[in-house]
Amino acid sequence: MANTNGERHAFQAEVSKLLGLMANSLYRDKEIFLRELISNASDACDKLRYAAITQPDLLGDDAALQVTITPDAKAGVLAVADNGIGMSHDELIDNLGTIARSGTEAFVKQMAEAQGGDGADEEDGQDGPAGLAAGLIGQFGVGFYSSFMVAKRVEVVTRRADEAEGWRWRSDGTGSFTIAPEADAARGTRIELHLRKEAREFLEPLRIRTVVKAYSDHVGLPIWLENEGGQKEMVNEGSALWSRPRSEIGEDQYREFYHHVAHVPGDPWHTIHLHAEGRIEYTALLFVPDTRPFDLFDPMRRHGVRLYVRRVFITDECEGLLPSYLRFVRGVVDSADLALNVSRETLQNDPILAKIRAGLVKRVLSDLAKRAKKAPEEYASFWQNFGAVLKEGLYEDAEQKDKLLPLVRFQSVQGGERWLSLDEYVEAMPEQQEAIYYISGEDPQALRRSPQIEGFGARGIDVLLMADPVDQFWLPMIGAYKEKPFRSVTQGASDLDRFAVEDEEKKTAAADAPAAVEIDKLIALVKLTLADAVKDVRTSERLTESPVCLVADEGDIDMHLERLLRQHKHEVPAQKRVLEINPGHDLTRALARMVGQKGATDALEDAAHLLMDQALILEGEPVPDPSAFTRRLSGLVSRALSE
Ligand code: ADP
Repeated sequence: MANTNGERHAFQAEVSKLLGLMANSLYRDKEIFLRELISNASDACDKLRYAAITQPDLLGDDAALQVTITPDAKAGVLAVADNGIGMSHDELIDNLGTIARSGTEAFVKQMAEAQGGDGADEEDGQDGPAGLAAGLIGQFGVGFYSSFMVAKRVEVVTRRADEAEGWRWRSDGTGSFTIAPEADAARGTRIELHLRKEAREFLEPLRIRTVVKAYSDHVGLPIWLENEGGQKEMVNEGSALWSRPRSEIGEDQYREFYHHVAHVPGDPWHTIHLHAEGRIEYTALLFVPDTRPFDLFDPMRRHGVRLYVRRVFITDECEGLLPSYLRFVRGVVDSADLALNVSRETLQNDPILAKIRAGLVKRVLSDLAKRAKKAPEEYASFWQNFGAVLKEGLYEDAEQKDKLLPLVRFQSVQGGERWLSLDEYVEAMPEQQEAIYYISGEDPQALRRSPQIEGFGARGIDVLLMADPVDQFWLPMIGAYKEKPFRSVTQGASDLDRFAVEDEEKKTAAADAPAAVEIDKLIALVKLTLADAVKDVRTSERLTESPVCLVADEGDIDMHLERLLRQHKHEVPAQKRVLEINPGHDLTRALARMVGQKGATDALEDAAHLLMDQALILEGEPVPDPSAFTRRLSGLVSRALSE
């Protein structure tokens, strides 16, 4: 639709939602809008600087890239302008009409949920549901759209560096925006905020100076504050934070820089600022976040580390800079040794980049090891956020195996909520224990209730819980730690008979088990009855409480892995399992006695099926014939009751 304001476009529904939330936001620190606009302006300058490496003409006679903030107290307008790359007509529509980032989308959802609460605590900007939503704005930073926290109308005048025609975008933040051609637009982008009455404080030079200093001092290009007479004063340091000496940088500045580059909620959990000298020179300022981002497992997620060559931004999509198992790391790397005109495509195979990468990996892993040693509890919180990602390195990067394994943490059956290292596990092993026992599945709580671990607990042997899908991939590759093989407690014959049972009660229970012949007969009968449904039937040392369990035979696919493969639509040949029977269980004893007295009967055959069905239920598997199961169970119970 065309009118005097130009063509009108509707915002994507998600954006409208976000804008609604912004306009009604109770967020106290509305000043972060300025940080977001400056951040965008500095990115736009970075992009132009990069483009100008191959097309120097783009800079023309306006080569000093910069940001200018101009308050106009009379008109009530605050302008933030840059002479960066600018936006074309279509880019305006895409960039300022939709939400590109999946993280932002997730944020909108969370925030809408938070604000949809009972509305209590409206007075307080920080607590209660509305306050929670507000808190998220500050942590997350929602970019350009945060302008609408302070402005009732926003106009964007922009011209792309390689185009002659400029555009003016206008919106009051309610549902739609317009775009019209703009004569004489300067290169770059100028955001004009028509401030709400209550946000007029942002027209005061002192206020602006303070906000810029607090949030944007690290930005690597000059930020000017222009007064009404047209005089300019520089209000930030103007050099990239990473290029300054560590001793001159405070924790607050690192944190603000983190918010600028990381695009994730929260604060840094760990900061690494290193200047490598010698054969290859580079500077890295890297952060490990204290919060797990929404898109950690999203293959479309942005890369976390930006690459610069001598302060010129090259790319934030450099796959080769860090391995994918360190994809949670955020920050920048700046090298003087890469060629400025390095192409983003060939970067991946660049030998210098490979060396930088090796240096970064080494440093990140050694810093993690230090933190793990110094502050195990803090390390546990890191591990809960990113452990599943770090473990990918165990099978992707064989070279780092020896550095990665000591960093890995597990919960265990006996350890409760504690996170154990492999060293701790191995040190606590009884002398005769030769293997590192584990059980894998999806849910740690369910694993703790598994029948297969009962016999281990009774013998004082701890079992590690492997509840991340990635565990199924590294375990077979790694095989052993300090010469102790990893063994699944749901696979193969158990070697528990080598260990004494600690629990006295269980010892006696085992002692008055029925005669071996009777048990053997029972097993033979169950095997015959179940025929092809099982691979084998045998007695078990694994069980103390439960009558039965299923295990995978030695060399067969473990049961959890089979489920996982099926979930991921892999073809897995049908696996027959081994049914293990607890010889000390009352049920087994009664059945064995019955076999001894009466031989095979219908009731015993029913019982054999019921044993198998119980084992399946304990595994969380469906019973193959529920109506037969019910018939047999009712029959058995009613016989028992009428006896
Ligand atoms: P983000 O910066 O996190 O991507 P924003 O909503 O702040 O999200 O901005 C969306 C997009 O709009 C940016 O990715 C960028 O492409 C474009 N943009 C915003 N501000 C500018 C600017 N000053 N100059 C050029 N492009 C800009």
